[in-house]
Amino acid sequence: MADQHDHDHDGHDHDHDHEESGAGKIVGELPDTSKGTARPITVVGNPVLHRETKTVTAFDAELSALIDDMFVSMYAAEGVGLAANQIGVDAKVFVYDCPDDEGVRHIGHVINPVLEPFPADRPRNLDDGNEGCLSVPTAYAELPRPDYAAVTGQDKDGNPVRVEGTGFFARCLQHETDHLYGFLYIDKLSKRDRKDALKQMAEGTPRYATVPND
Ligand SMILES: [Zn+2]
Repeated sequence: MADQHDHDHDGHDHDHDHEESGAGKIVGELPDTSKGTARPITVVGNPVLHRETKTVTAFDAELSALIDDMFVSMYAAEGVGLAANQIGVDAKVFVYDCPDDEGVRHIGHVINPVLEPFPADRPRNLDDGNEGCLSVPTAYAELPRPDYAAVTGQDKDGNPVRVEGTGFFARCLQHETDHLYGFLYIDKLSKRDRKDALKQMAEGTPRYATVPND
C-alpha cells in the first residue's frame, strides 16, 4: 500500500494511527486541486509502467499542469502516492500525500528522484507491511522494505530537493521511485506471491477509472 491505503486488509492500518505523536502535523503544502483534472490509471501490462521514464529537462507550465493533474488523479483513486507513468506520462515525476508511522502527513512532489544509498551508520530495519499499488488494483502483498529512505531530485522550478521519510512514508518514497525506473512492487515479490497478487487483481474491481490494456 505504498500507492494505496489498505482498506480491506490487516497489516498496518494507518487510518488508526491518529493517537500517534505526529497526528495532525503536515509537512509540505496542500495542493490546489481546483487546477487539475483526474486521469485514468494505467495498470500492470501497460508498457509505460515497465520501462525507465524520461528525465525531466523542462521546468515549465506544462510540468506544473502535470503535477496538478497527478494530485487530482491520486486523490480520485484514493492513493497516497502517484508516479507520472501511472497516468501514462513518460516523465520522472511523482507526487505524494502520505502519512508516516507517527501520523505526520507528508505532501509534495519530486522531479527526477534518485534513491540515496541506505546510510551505513543507520540500523537497517526492515518493515514488513502490506503493500498495494493503484496500478495493480485490489491486490495486496506483504513486502519487506527498509523503514528509512531518502530521495534527492528537483522541485517543479528545478531547485534541488531532498525528501526523507520513515515507516510507511519511507515505503512510499521507495515505491514511487521504483515506478519511474520501470518497476512495480510485484516485481520484488516471489513468483508465487506475484502470481497471487495478479490473481487478486483479476478477481477484483477497481474503485477508480483505469486505462484498458490492449
Ligand atoms: Zn504503485
